[in-house]
Amino acid sequence: MTVEALKIEGLRKHFGNNVALDGIDLALPRGQVLALLGSSGCGKTTLLRAIAGLHDIDAGRILLEGECVAAPGRHLSPEARRLGMVFQDYALWPHMSVADNVAFPLEMQGVRASARRSQVEWALSLVGLGEYASRAPGTLSGGQQQRVALARAIVGKPRLLLMDEPLSNLDKGLRESLALEIRALIEELNLTAVFVTHDQHEAFALADRVAVLQQGRLSQVDTPEALFRAPATPAIAEFIDAGTLLAVRCDEEGLHIGSQQLPLVAGKHRGEATLLVPRRALRLRSAGGEELQARVEGRLFQGDHFNLRLALENGQFLKLHSSEAPARHEQVGIELDLTALRAWDGQQRLLALQPLGARATRTAEA
Ligand code: ATP
Repeated sequence: MTVEALKIEGLRKHFGNNVALDGIDLALPRGQVLALLGSSGCGKTTLLRAIAGLHDIDAGRILLEGECVAAPGRHLSPEARRLGMVFQDYALWPHMSVADNVAFPLEMQGVRASARRSQVEWALSLVGLGEYASRAPGTLSGGQQQRVALARAIVGKPRLLLMDEPLSNLDKGLRESLALEIRALIEELNLTAVFVTHDQHEAFALADRVAVLQQGRLSQVDTPEALFRAPATPAIAEFIDAGTLLAVRCDEEGLHIGSQQLPLVAGKHRGEATLLVPRRALRLRSAGGEELQARVEGRLFQGDHFNLRLALENGQFLKLHSSEAPARHEQVGIELDLTALRAWDGQQRLLALQPLGARATRTAEA
């Protein structure tokens, strides 16, 4: 039986009357990177801090490589859990040199000075800062400081690397390059990592799996691709910006968007539904064969494509990426890949979409 690097069972945590984590179950195999993604206040920092040992827990348990580190009445200290942590604001000690900052966890572990020196050199060279050992953290750029923090987190060969919004303080270009560096480092050292973010691009760039948290509960845990292609609920689709959500009406004649109609039926469901239309499902057509008509409301040049905002006749909007740039207010035809659409009923239950008149059934999962 393989032992998971991290296993969480039935975890609950409350602060007074406020339930911050409400029954979390998670398993993370060695070598994988998990992103905890969610909006402000959903509980992601609380979950990371519970894993780190910075919060005790009210129910459930947390296991690291099979060892129970937290349960009601059991609480291993953060040091005893042998984790590495990276924080949004770097959390370096300004009065200590870069090398002393990185050496600190080793000192806490009682590693001898001679061994410390070579391990610090190793960690600093891995993050490309071998030349900066004697500098004060305050003389480095934000990206360099975060790399020092990363070196400090990995120097003791932690069994789990925890990162709290590690890229949020950096500007866009630097975020992308550091994301690539962190990902490469994690793979090279075969580390297991959990990180918190509210930014889906950061989650998608770094993680093997993404856990979406909403109000203290996990609403979906999936690979970035699966999450983007098949979000479990309209709320998740909206949060990760998986496309446009449209209010539609279903009957035996098709799926109605105002007075327009798509040749799809939603199984036996009749009445209101929410339809997800991913950008990749839409293509502009200048003439003939189009399935929807819309008017160009806005266009934003993005370098290699235009972001178009298209108004449907009933006042709803579609978002679309296009290499063409029709003029504002121009009437356009839109071709849809019907197989990429997803729909839910009012209770957020996924509906099985089938082509109108088709015998064979096709679920929206296909
Ligand atoms: P953010 O992205 O804004 O940091 P988050 O998803 O990390 O949000 P948490 O910080 O985990 O959310 O907070 C979850 C809930 O628990 C919130 O309602 C928050 O107010 C509450 N909470 C968190 N820490 C404490 C605390 N120490 N004392 C009381 N309530 C807390």
